[in-house]
Amino acid sequence: MLDFEPEDVALPPGHFIGGKSAQGGPSLEVRRPSDGKLLAFVPDASAEIVDEAVSNAQQAWQESGWGHRPPRERGRVLRRWADLIDTHAGELARLESVGSTRPIRDSFSHEVPFSAECIRFFAECADKFGGDAVPTRRDSLGLILTEPYGVVGAIAPWNFPLSMASWKCGPALAAGNAIVLKPSELTPFSTVRFAELAVQAGVPAGVFNVIQGRGAVAGSALVKHPLIRKVSFTGSTLTGAAVMTDAAHHGMKPVTLELGGKSPQLVYADAGDLDTLADRVVRGFTSNAGQACVSGSRLIVQRGIAEQLLEKIAAMVASVRPGLTWREATRYAPLINERQAMKVDAAVRDSLACGAAAYCGGGFFEHELGGYFYRPTVLTGVDDGMLAVREEIFGPVLTVQVFDEEEQGLALADHPTYGLAACVHTQDLGRAMRATRRLAAGTVWVNRFGRTGDFIIPTGGFKGSGIGKDLGRQAFESNLRYKSVLIDF
Ligand code: NDP
Repeated sequence: MLDFEPEDVALPPGHFIGGKSAQGGPSLEVRRPSDGKLLAFVPDASAEIVDEAVSNAQQAWQESGWGHRPPRERGRVLRRWADLIDTHAGELARLESVGSTRPIRDSFSHEVPFSAECIRFFAECADKFGGDAVPTRRDSLGLILTEPYGVVGAIAPWNFPLSMASWKCGPALAAGNAIVLKPSELTPFSTVRFAELAVQAGVPAGVFNVIQGRGAVAGSALVKHPLIRKVSFTGSTLTGAAVMTDAAHHGMKPVTLELGGKSPQLVYADAGDLDTLADRVVRGFTSNAGQACVSGSRLIVQRGIAEQLLEKIAAMVASVRPGLTWREATRYAPLINERQAMKVDAAVRDSLACGAAAYCGGGFFEHELGGYFYRPTVLTGVDDGMLAVREEIFGPVLTVQVFDEEEQGLALADHPTYGLAACVHTQDLGRAMRATRRLAAGTVWVNRFGRTGDFIIPTGGFKGSGIGKDLGRQAFESNLRYKSVLIDF
């Protein structure tokens, strides 16, 4: 039984610096998305607190020799950490679900085990990748040595707090860096417990610090801090650009940016069973109520099956019901807060005013829970100029565009601004491969939607969807810098 009462969850206090919880800065309200009630207050770090956290991380990194330890030893510590995450699965899942959009069933069966496994994957990378001996003149030896950067600054969004933390901390720590993480101030708690468990597993105190606060102050101060040598950010394209600018002007730091998306679900008439397809499409745009960077928010469907597929999608989403994230029966996520809810609704209203039609949904659920739950919404009659097609909405909204010829479908699927992920549904291998090659997206899924537990597959976008990769060997390697060595005999 996973049900719990939110009042029974013990929340870790404030920041986590040097292996201890710390306060500092005025308080920010944290509300529960499911019912809008006050959950707790969290400190809002000033630039001084950020400086304390980063300086502490730098000192801990140097004094502990974390970056010089045998890589297998670092791997052992991270594996112990992953085991502790599994052992504390119930506690972490409750911390995740009490104040985020993630229903307890998903936190327990997905977020927590996924985070543990992600840490294990990067533990395995610790002694597998990095460095090379390269062909040079006969009287010399060329080496490429790898070394950690030092202290990495990481900024995570609110939509999947634990998963995002594991994506950032796993590779940074496995590669021998220290890390200072700022979770979103909307979902601050689960990552503190996550960091406490890392220290309990043997990550030296201070090598993983967490600061709480607003992006414009704490996030920005973190990126600009002179001891931060590399930045990893997930969030909107607009904020990603600000982070990149700050990183360029304050030490020319490398950045990994996982940004917004507008992922197409390109469905050909030969895609197979319509019930299976409808299920995939629905999961693609309603998962976490559309608050996912890879959300499959644009259905591009071949005319022959368009009407039938839409009928099935509408029938499937008709059974969706809002629920509290602390109830095991809940399947559908609330929107994170009022601001986000108004943004989603405004994008839908704007497109309706411009001539789109709501095939289903198109507004909030009526309920007594107190949070903002948006009906899964399917918009037809859209064109490329409408807000719902142009911009990342981050809500359960699917736009539908119909095509006749293969080329027309591909042209619609390719978004001018974003290129995070795309999925292609067809039984024709040639057509699938033509689309895969043609689509400018960092990930292409064929006959499926969404990531698996194959952490070896990196994720990251093209165009406005970002720079660099999370997950995979690439994420590990991006936490190392490369030193070229040439030795004359
Ligand atoms: P943001 O991109 O603004 O925020 C993401 C993270 O960056 C948060 O921790 C935020 O802190 C921080 N941040 C904000 N400004 C700065 C800055 N100048 N320097 C450093 N860090 C900063 O997303 P929002 O939460 O405001 O959501 C707005 C929209 O962004 C959504 O509607 C959605 O479209 C998109 N988004 C995309 C995500 C993705 O995974 N692709 C994830 C989240 C949002 P703070 O919360 O205090 O502002």
